[in-house]
Amino acid sequence: MTSWRVPTEHPDLNALDPGLLEAVVRGEARLTPEQALAIGESMPIYDLGRFANERCRAVHGDQLRTYIIDRNINYTNVCTAKCTFCAFRRDDTDHDAYTLEYEAIYDKIAELSAIGGTQILMQGGMNPHLPLEWYEKLLRGIKDRFPHIHVHAFSPPEFIEFVDFFDPPGDTLEAKLRWVMVRLRDAGLDSLPGGGGEIFAPAVRRKIGLGKCDAEAWLTCMYVAHSLGMFTSATMMFGHIEGVADRVHHMHLVRQWQDKVLAKGAEQDGATAEQPAWGHSKAFISWPFQREHTPLGRLKEWGVAEDERGQPFPGDVVARLDGGGEKSLHPEFGRRLRMAGATAYLRTQALSRLFLDNIYSIGASWVTMGPHIGQMGLLFGANDMGSVMMEENVVSSAGTTFCLNEATICRLIRDAGFIPAQRDNVYDILRIHESADSPDLNVTNWAEHRAKRLHVESEEPASVELTTGKS
Ligand code: SF4
Repeated sequence: MTSWRVPTEHPDLNALDPGLLEAVVRGEARLTPEQALAIGESMPIYDLGRFANERCRAVHGDQLRTYIIDRNINYTNVCTAKCTFCAFRRDDTDHDAYTLEYEAIYDKIAELSAIGGTQILMQGGMNPHLPLEWYEKLLRGIKDRFPHIHVHAFSPPEFIEFVDFFDPPGDTLEAKLRWVMVRLRDAGLDSLPGGGGEIFAPAVRRKIGLGKCDAEAWLTCMYVAHSLGMFTSATMMFGHIEGVADRVHHMHLVRQWQDKVLAKGAEQDGATAEQPAWGHSKAFISWPFQREHTPLGRLKEWGVAEDERGQPFPGDVVARLDGGGEKSLHPEFGRRLRMAGATAYLRTQALSRLFLDNIYSIGASWVTMGPHIGQMGLLFGANDMGSVMMEENVVSSAGTTFCLNEATICRLIRDAGFIPAQRDNVYDILRIHESADSPDLNVTNWAEHRAKRLHVESEEPASVELTTGKS
């Protein structure tokens, strides 16, 4: 990526012009936000999928599609924020509030290591009772015991709260974030996951992410991580109150900040201890909101009432491509949902592949969509199936999620027409499964490998063992 050159935009061209899309596929043209919105709203799904698939093949080739073996560890569910889409958080006085002991975390990592896992994705609620030293001791304890495990941990909203909780030195948010991040990096933190992105547009974020950082802070946090040489990811949770233009605005901010750090990397004349080689965002993963057990999920769906039929969705009325939509533009904004099904999911993922021309990996979200929609995602622009699931607590608290083992993920990839390959955190290939002893090719009884549905039916999340896989 050191020679990154921004492709040229052609704002005068019709978004559905096949010549424009073919140039995007070759990496010779860049979609404007207006063109992305037009494609997202009106391109037939088959064409959208075909172009996204061709773009994916241009970047990743025709053969390998990847997955990682990692484990989500949600170290605490105590959280100062009250996101309305969240069924995971607890107040510290709740009977089922928890913070995992170090030994419990080490035991989980030992189980991961035993099955050939390479990474932990560790995220929590934003717990004001844990001092910086608690995190440093944890990270050092992990690296002492498991030096081969990549620690992908603490999303931007957690870091923004660390700044609030720990009161680090510095005159700017960037300086304060850098101080905390260097301490955690020196203790063993390898990279940051892209959790907490949701939707960046302020009107939407103010409604759904109560107490969570704004887009500027989220992006600044990732910029600091990149300046320290880390590779991160970006995410988007859609299919709730937002408009399609909000999704494009969200992806546009991801693309703009990625351009910035790629340019920094390209300009860099050698790495130093003070300025390591610049990192950047390696992946983008989007998934639809899961509604069960969440305050947001109790909203009515738009279009059910007779007087709403045929009327534009309030989120679309409010949304602006520059993120400047005002809630006053529609009285029902934030009071009605538009849930995303399989079609909306595949369309959004395909659009992300075409629009985010500077992001290497697009992840398929089978955790919430189910294994076969995730498999179709490989033909709609995704190159990666994410993580074999050992544990999940956050998304599963809000509805049905799925759990797949390595053999099943490999079979889904192979049945889609590709060779499955295990990757690491930076998408380097660890194993290519071509031979007869591949995880899926030596299975004799597939009945033992069915995807498990994980769904928290009771008020007792502690009884559930699974994770998000959204890294
Ligand atoms: S989504 Fe994360 S930050 Fe928001 S309430 Fe839940 S645990 Fe807290």
